Amino acid sequence: MSRFKCSEFSNLKEYVPGEQPRDKQYIKLNTNESPYPPSPATIQAVDSGEVADLCLYSDPECKKLKQAIAKTYGVKPKNVFVSNGSDEILNFAFMLYGKASGAVFADITYGFYKVFAQLYGIDYSIKPLNSDFTINVDDYKSTGRFTVLANPNAPTGIALPLKKIEEIVASNPDTVVLIDEAYVDFGAESARGLISKYKNLIVCMTYSKSRSMAGARLGFCFADEELIKDLELIRYSTNPYNINRLTQVAGTAAMADNDYYMQNCERIIETRKFTTEELTALGFDVLESKANFVFTKHPELSGKDFYLELKSKGVLVRHFETERIADFNRITIGSMEEMTEFIKITREILKEKGLLK
Ligand code: PMP
Repeated sequence: MSRFKCSEFSNLKEYVPGEQPRDKQYIKLNTNESPYPPSPATIQAVDSGEVADLCLYSDPECKKLKQAIAKTYGVKPKNVFVSNGSDEILNFAFMLYGKASGAVFADITYGFYKVFAQLYGIDYSIKPLNSDFTINVDDYKSTGRFTVLANPNAPTGIALPLKKIEEIVASNPDTVVLIDEAYVDFGAESARGLISKYKNLIVCMTYSKSRSMAGARLGFCFADEELIKDLELIRYSTNPYNINRLTQVAGTAAMADNDYYMQNCERIIETRKFTTEELTALGFDVLESKANFVFTKHPELSGKDFYLELKSKGVLVRHFETERIADFNRITIGSMEEMTEFIKITREILKEKGLLK
């Protein structure tokens, strides 16, 4: 790196996205994308007229998109913020609230929280998950800091009930609590209904998982109007055109086609059940997931070996070389055909290693 950059960034450890190799066709179960394409109406919305209009800037107010999201979720557009992926909301929120009060998040959670905390030189406190990878709710009460929780958590998939989330939000009236609901559509309870009751709550969501649009980069959140104004201040101070024209029309059309996406979530939940049962029958421990992935380990096969064996046989999963979870792999739930093939290949690996009971 160059000698010109600010020394503040010398020790910054960047976020490492899941690998996207192009060397061969993999069954790709490593970055929690949807196995289903966007709905036909979503694809049609990105028509040639919209493409021709790329010579014009996108609507900086994202009016239609915000209206469509607000309508689907029964809230007012003034309580909606839209972003270039939900990572951007996290970025802005750490900048706004983490810098103000310090931050709190779990040891095993979405890796970007720590990166943002370090990027902004935030004083952060890490709360270890319990030994069964559940969250100790008391760790997040009355923190006096910007408090961030993924619900369901990633990469564990474990969800907290809404009652517990409300206890956390209510106990932190003087700092912001951000609930990252990237995976909420796969079976967890959302906290978005609480935004009218609590002025310190941000509930963050994304089109990347349940709405099959990871490549469009579109996130959104719900919060009290004052918090939305804070986020808009940073958006207009960095990139008012953060959501391009094609993504705006696709995101608007996708909200109008909500049933299509929610049906796909049901299919993924069914496939998750199948995958969990099959892995359990093969001797794996599988954490109870409310997300579009499962977090699993085999008592006699290291996480890294399983990951490498799968990769050599054309299946990509996510392995983290991180303390406490190095024996695990996070496996995205793909289509039923993909997961049937994944189970078949897993059985072969166990057989080769003499681990098939
Ligand atoms: N939160 C969590 C918990 C995630 O796993 C992800 C996806 N990597 C994100 C937020 C960000 O998703 P996106 O920027 O694609 O909306």
